[in-house]
Amino acid sequence: MPTPFKNEALSDFSNPEINKKMQDALAKVKGEFGHEYSLVIGGERLKSTEKFTSTNPGNPSDVLGTFQKGKREHATTAIETAWKAFETWKKTPVEDRAELLFKIAQIMRDRKYELSSWMVYEVGKNWVEADADVAEAIDFCDFYGREALRYAEKQPVVEWPGENNESVYIPLGVGAVIPPWNFPLAILVGMTTAAIVSGNTVVLKPASDSPAIATKFMEIAEQAGVPAGVINLLTGSGADVGETLVTSPLIRFISFTGSREVGLHIVEEAGKTHPGQKWIKRVVAEMGGKDGIIVDDEADIDAAVEGVALAAFGYQGQKCSACSRAIVTESVYDAFLVKLTERVKKITVGPVDDYANFMGPVSSKSAFNKISEYIEIAKTEGKLVCGGETQSEKGYFIQPTVIADVKPTARISLEEIFGPVLAVIPVKDYDEALKVANNTDYGLTGAVYTKNPDKLKRAKNEFHVGNLYLNRKCTGALVGVQPFGGFNMSGTDSKAGGRDYLLLFMQAKSICEKL
Ligand code: NAP
Ligand code: MG
Repeated sequence: MPTPFKNEALSDFSNPEINKKMQDALAKVKGEFGHEYSLVIGGERLKSTEKFTSTNPGNPSDVLGTFQKGKREHATTAIETAWKAFETWKKTPVEDRAELLFKIAQIMRDRKYELSSWMVYEVGKNWVEADADVAEAIDFCDFYGREALRYAEKQPVVEWPGENNESVYIPLGVGAVIPPWNFPLAILVGMTTAAIVSGNTVVLKPASDSPAIATKFMEIAEQAGVPAGVINLLTGSGADVGETLVTSPLIRFISFTGSREVGLHIVEEAGKTHPGQKWIKRVVAEMGGKDGIIVDDEADIDAAVEGVALAAFGYQGQKCSACSRAIVTESVYDAFLVKLTERVKKITVGPVDDYANFMGPVSSKSAFNKISEYIEIAKTEGKLVCGGETQSEKGYFIQPTVIADVKPTARISLEEIFGPVLAVIPVKDYDEALKVANNTDYGLTGAVYTKNPDKLKRAKNEFHVGNLYLNRKCTGALVGVQPFGGFNMSGTDSKAGGRDYLLLFMQAKSICEKL
């Protein structure tokens, strides 16, 4: 049996030795820019006639690599190959499958700074954010490996005279794994390893903004000894090969994390039965958020300011869990806003290969354009108190932006912007704060700052989010500690990094033997 699960420790970059390791890793990764990578189907390296590149959003003239734009035929081959591999993989002892996850975790631990560096360059994560992403990926492997062993244990059933009854969990088959770019290692690794450790095989279609880190993971899985065909890497466009996977009659389940728009489309398409299809596709869709932090009269205002600033602007606000609405009661509103503005003005923005910068670029030109449009809308819906400036000459940089006096029903109060834009919403009292906190279509994360225990108790009962935080920020869920996933339009109510998660990749078989 493995040792009990323990979360991976974060790196301390204020330690000069560790800081140097990261500097060296950044230089090494930079030296590896510009290579061409392949699709990996059944262990074979395949090329496509069309290619795409991955660039550094902090300096788009840096080309990290060239990737294959997979075609529909590749998607079909990948699914067929995964079914062939499934025949042996499903019979591989769970202990061996779990062991492979532990090996993947160890290789990622050994190559931590290198993996972090790829994310610094590919998606603009600062060092601390990139390091946390790798740590979470390691945690998923270590956690799901142990979970698979737990589910393989004898499951309790009621005794019945004259019969031997058992209930066992078996895998589903071949799945499509479709992750987003914003946790390009952690989420991709979590969804993929949960599926394979349960005995399934997968076609992994990474986000088009983060194919390099996905390719690094594929190399690591192979190095750990995951057999050919168990994970098939299909880079390419979501609208093209992603759609082919989703609509294929041979796909048994879809594990998706991304936007509400794409998630709902996948749910709809997966609901259609195609000729030759023998099952109802299972969809796990983890989608967007519009997460609020309530700051109450009885809050520690300094703590609330710090929590809101970090949750709103960490990784440029590009987390599904990011705080994008601060809901503040009247009597502390002015004091909170003054302190928040002072704090936000101290945030450093610039290329994140430089450790001194807290905020890096937003992920892409299209993200930059979308967020810039929202800033224009925001200016008509409230008062710009800081930020608002954007700069895209060399990299896609947006200053941390705070908009005050926003109405609870304004667009910037309700729509996911996915960038460094915070709406501050004044409310009369705590009753109204809770009402406003629940007035979006989403229900992912939320936080409440108050010292009043009765108000905290009310939040536990009334604040309808999958991840609720009391007197701390609403980002930074840890695997196993705060199982993660939201309600309503935030997804299908799954909990990544929790004890229920592997069930989403398995089905239970009851076996009764007459004695
Ligand atoms: P996205 O645009 O929805 O893309 C997610 C993935 O879906 C990508 O791999 C994308 O491929 C693929 N895709 C696009 N169209 C598709 C289609 N028609 N069929 C199949 N696949 C398709 O989301 P994103 O911009 O990468 O990520 C940001 C979003 O993810 C935000 O809304 C955020 O809140 C959400 N998110 C949620 C969670 C959570 O746990 N709830 C966690 C992280 C992020 P391409 O890249 O090739 O288009
Ligand atoms: Mg990029």
